[in-house]
Amino acid sequence: MRTIDSSPPASRLPLPDSLAAAAIRPGDGDYDNVRHTYTRTGSPAAVIRVRDHEDIAAALAHARTAQLPLTVRSGGHGISGRSTNDGGIVVDLSALNAVKVLDARSGLVRVEAGARWGDVAAQLAPHGLALSSGDTGDVGVGGLATTGGIGLMSRLHGLTIDHMRAAELVLADGSPVRTDADHDPDLFWAVRGAGANFGVATAFEFQAKPVGDVIAAVTVFDAGDTAAFLTRWGAAVEAAPRTVTSFLTLMAGPGGKPVAQAMTVHAGADREAAREALAPVVASGPVLQNQAFVTPYHQLLPATHAAQHAQQPLAVSRSGLLEHLTEPAAAAIASLLVAARAPMVQLRSVGGAVNDTPSTSTAYAHRTQNFSLMAATLPAGRKNLDRHWEQLHPHLKGLYLSFETGTGPRQLQDAFPGAVLDRLMVLKSRYDPDHVFDNNFALPSADLPG
Ligand SMILES: Cc1cc2nc3c(=O)[nH]c(=O)nc-3n(C[C@H](O)[C@H](O)[C@H](O)COP(=O)(O)OP(=O)(O)OC[C@H]3O[C@@H](n4cnc5c(N)ncnc54)[C@H](O)[C@@H]3O)c2cc1C
Repeated sequence: MRTIDSSPPASRLPLPDSLAAAAIRPGDGDYDNVRHTYTRTGSPAAVIRVRDHEDIAAALAHARTAQLPLTVRSGGHGISGRSTNDGGIVVDLSALNAVKVLDARSGLVRVEAGARWGDVAAQLAPHGLALSSGDTGDVGVGGLATTGGIGLMSRLHGLTIDHMRAAELVLADGSPVRTDADHDPDLFWAVRGAGANFGVATAFEFQAKPVGDVIAAVTVFDAGDTAAFLTRWGAAVEAAPRTVTSFLTLMAGPGGKPVAQAMTVHAGADREAAREALAPVVASGPVLQNQAFVTPYHQLLPATHAAQHAQQPLAVSRSGLLEHLTEPAAAAIASLLVAARAPMVQLRSVGGAVNDTPSTSTAYAHRTQNFSLMAATLPAGRKNLDRHWEQLHPHLKGLYLSFETGTGPRQLQDAFPGAVLDRLMVLKSRYDPDHVFDNNFALPSADLPG
């Protein structure tokens, strides 16, 4: 069992009055509820629950002057775990959590970065609107919307960032900026995939889609013949209409035998259409259990707002994207579960509408792939996972940062292939020349002439 450090540091970080009013420091009653994240324990000197862009600017300036580690947090659900630190400042956006419908007819909404996606879904539902955002309601808006957003309706509606129409950020020098296709378009491009490197995102405008009830099937498969099952599931998902998006979790079942649980969503409430669309996916393996139900979309991802306490011990994860689940790729994925004994292997379907967006439109440039893969393990299992991941790597095409914990040149090159990384490095030099926002997947600067 993991022990969680709850000892306060020796002395309290002195802060200017304006920041002290928003700060939670060791010794404060709420400190144990805000110091950790979903995957990591932390001991920050101060968590600043910012109230506006002025607080953010003050927190950035203070961290820079005092040369303290700086971390940005929205929901604290980052898989990389880097939204806490030891001895530094956490800019916590959880109080900036408003969700506002700007125009119900066109679906234009403004969402602050500290909101949770479950709350966004619940608040848009009465307007008959939704944004496809991921499968977990407690995930924060800021972390997901600066990286991609692979949701339960991705094949019909694309990634979350594909619906972004504007972003508001506080830059490294403390200045607030609103960027869209006509204002700082380079920054707007960069925010949609590599946002954490450029500033503190405070709010976004999105074009939500009309969405009502959906039909979801939760299916448990016997995945004993793991590679063959994956190949069939992959082919069925690719052949399915775009209304169908399927997320699959592979794990060791009773007696260590591989089982797979699929959450497959038909984005629509027509039962007959759903039956026809879902049937081939459900038929892709021996079914142990299957349950289909009609539900309002928002009920698929409730937000609990439970305090984070590093409750997820699988703190090492690897991420990759695949165009197809070919037999060799499926065999290599099966070995992650069986030989590498990764306790969790997940596949999420992308493709469909995700691939309608040109690869040059956003810094997330992966627009030919059909699957996102994640494998997670305990820290003690890292070497074993990495050894098997090397065999899989030639079958991968790119990486989705939100599911990766490793940092290094290869991760950056896989996440931002070719010219994408070059362009991001030039923009890093322009918008964050002093590398204030280097805490999570830091981009290098480009050597600019002069
Ligand atoms: C249980 C679970 C399920 C998930 N399912 C999905 C899924 O289905 N689809 C999917 O796409 N992703 C999914 N994710 C991944 C998730 O999108 C990322 O981990 C995301 O970063 C979490 O956002 P957060 O705001 O909660 O993270 P935080 O922990 O608050 O932040 C993570 C990182 O994002 C950056 N960041 C956060 N807020 C801001 C901001 N306002 N401005 C600039 N940078 C910021 C920082 O670098 C920070 O270290 C899942 C994660 C978990 C834990």
